[in-house]
This record gives sequence, structure tokens and C-alpha cells, in this order.
Amino acid sequence: MAHAPNPVFSKLPTTIFTTMSALAAQHSAVNLGQGFPDEDGPVSIRQVAAKALADGPNQYPPMRGLPQLRQAICAHAKRFYGIEFDPDANVVVTSGGTEALTASIMALAAQGGEVLLIEPAYDSYAPIAEAVGARVKTVKLSPPDWRLDAEAIAAAITPDTRVLMLNSPLNPTGRAFTRDELQGVSRVLARSNAVAVCDEVYEHLIFDRREHIPLITLPGMAERVVRVGSAGKMFSLTGWKVGWVTGPKALIDVIAKAHQFITFTTPPALQLGVAYALEQEMDFTLNLTKSLQANRDLLAQRLSHIGFEILPCEGSYFLTVGIRSLTNEGDRAFCERLVREAGVALIPLSVFFSNGTPDHLVRFAFCKKQGVLEQALRRLERFFRV
Ligand code: PMP
Ligand code: GLN
Repeated sequence: MAHAPNPVFSKLPTTIFTTMSALAAQHSAVNLGQGFPDEDGPVSIRQVAAKALADGPNQYPPMRGLPQLRQAICAHAKRFYGIEFDPDANVVVTSGGTEALTASIMALAAQGGEVLLIEPAYDSYAPIAEAVGARVKTVKLSPPDWRLDAEAIAAAITPDTRVLMLNSPLNPTGRAFTRDELQGVSRVLARSNAVAVCDEVYEHLIFDRREHIPLITLPGMAERVVRVGSAGKMFSLTGWKVGWVTGPKALIDVIAKAHQFITFTTPPALQLGVAYALEQEMDFTLNLTKSLQANRDLLAQRLSHIGFEILPCEGSYFLTVGIRSLTNEGDRAFCERLVREAGVALIPLSVFFSNGTPDHLVRFAFCKKQGVLEQALRRLERFFRV
């Protein structure tokens, strides 16, 4: 008889994002669940990639990524954060942020070691850590301010902690951690045996003139931190799945070894498109942030009027709101009812917590055209009789 498949994966449900998108399609709902823009990024970027696809070559590019893209990633890090990276030593191009995270966790965590997650946590971290045999531990942030508490992290770190996963701006709550909070983390990290994998895929999607602060730029962190980026989020091309990891050579060398057996490479035409985008189209990203901020404000104002409790949102594609004044049901039941009865798809926040609580919060994706947000709002206003 054949062995049972790996329980880490066989026991997992399909991701909530896929589940809610399927329900949205089934019920012709406005999909404010899964986070993807409904308008593609600049046509100029797509044309560069299309030409590269037609002209070729279309064979395996270098394992760590095309030199043009690695250079552009380093120039971007220098321009925005003053970080000096060497394209040959400090960068691996990956197939999306997802692969960057997987390669990083596989390379830096290990059998018997611990991986520390800050909850709410993006859903890909824990299964990959468990699949490599690491024990997953969690520190929970609390609404409404979701403040990062260095003491709580210090209390959860043990000599066996190998990796701290840190996501800022944070999906799903939109928190962008302050310098003060990050300094607390850096002090804890410096006293530990751990490194940090910083998921910074929303680095530019940050509002109200806040500054994105990569943990790697803080004193003592250059050798201890890797940074994950994604062209999908920067240029509204989420289907392209072009991402990268940057960081110290000693860590990047091992991450590259994991990457060589996950995907080995990423489509060359898309890499050239993204190299062009990082060099020529950053204005698109900076303007996207402005329109996202306006979308956040529109949603916050109208949802508040309906009776949702608005939590602060400092960045990302997402606004989190409380549902207690509208219903006593759990967030998941509420979302499943809303998609069927109101025709609006959302994401319940409890899925981002290992113990399933809090369960009175839901996430709205606002990376949508204003007309689409308006349509969702009108449906909700009608449903809740506002
Ligand atoms: N991390 C976070 C926090 C995300 O929200 C996403 C987006 N799905 C990813 C990583 C994955 O990025 P990509 O789509 O580039 O794989
Ligand atoms: N990161 C996206 C979100 O949070 C979804 C990506 C996916 O579906 N895996 O909505």
C-alpha cells in the first residue's frame, strides 16, 4: 500500500484567496477578496516583455537572474533606501515573492529549528516551514493598533530560533511598522541566533507620506536580514510572478541553492520587462500609491457609515474592518453569507491566525477601479439598508 502523502500539504485546505475568488465567480459577486489589481500595469512594460518574447532568446537565463534585472534591483535599493548591493553577490531573482519566501525559508530554516511568525501571518509561511521540518511558533499582534512588541518577540525567541518572518506593510492589516518598532526587533534579533526574512512585497504601497523602513537598513542588520520584493505588487502585474531576494552574500548563496531546485530560473522576457520597469516606470508605482490611498479613504468613509468599525490602514492593498456591530456570526460565516446574499466577496481575518481568532474582522482589497468599489459599496448599502 502506498504511503499517505505529506500531511503538511494533504491536510491544508485550498487557500482562502482561491476559495473566495471561486465563490465570487459562482455568485457574480464583486471580488474584494483576493488581492489583485483589476487594471494591468503600464503597457510599455508589457511591450518590452512582448518584444523580448518575440525576439528571444527564450532559453534558460542565468540561475540567479538576468544581469540587467539584478542591476536594476540593486539600483532600486540604492535609490530608495541607500542600500549598496552587488548584483553578483546579493540578489536572486525568483518566480514571485512566493518563491522568494519559499527558497528563503528552505535555505535558512532547518529540521528541528524554529521559525517565528508574527500573526496575522501570510498563509504561505507556516506550511513551508513545517515542510522543511521546522517548528512554527507565533507571536500575536492585537487589534486595533497591531503594534509590534519587541518584548513579546524576545520572549518567543529561543536558541533554536533560526528565522523570524516579518511582513511590512503587513497583509492583511495594512500596518507599516515604525522605526521605533523595528529598532526593538533589531535589538532582539542582534542578541539571538536568528535571521529575519522580511516580506516587503508592499514596500511602495504605503500611505500618508509614511516611509517604508527595511529592517536590513538598521544598525547591525546587514548580515542578518534578507528582503523579499515582488514586481507583481509594484507594477500591478501580479500574474507575472517575478520577485527577488536581496541580502548578505552568505545567506543569498544558500537561498540560490534552494532556488536552483524550486524553479531554477524565471522567464527571461518577464525579467527584461521588470528590469525596464524598475529603471523607467517607478512613477507608475508612486502614482499607484496615491490612487490606492484615495480608494482606502473612499472605502473607509462609506463602510464606517454602514456600521463597520474601521481599523487603521497605513499601506498594502487591504483595509481591515470590524463586523461586531453588524453581526454576531464569525468572520468566515459572515463572508460566506455576504458573497451569496450581498454579492460582495471579502476575506475573513481569522485565517491569518493559527488559533483562528480574532474572528470579528474582515479584509477588503481596494486595489480596484473606483467604479468597482462603488458597485460593492452600493450593494453593501442596499444589503444593510443604509
Ligand atoms: N507576501 C505577501 C504578504 C503577499 O500578500 C503576497 C501576494 N500574494 C506575496 C507574498 C506573494 O507575492 P507574489 O505574488 O509576487 O508571489
Ligand atoms: N496575496 C494575495 C492576497 O492576500 C493573494 C495571492 C494568492 O492568491 N496566493 O490576497
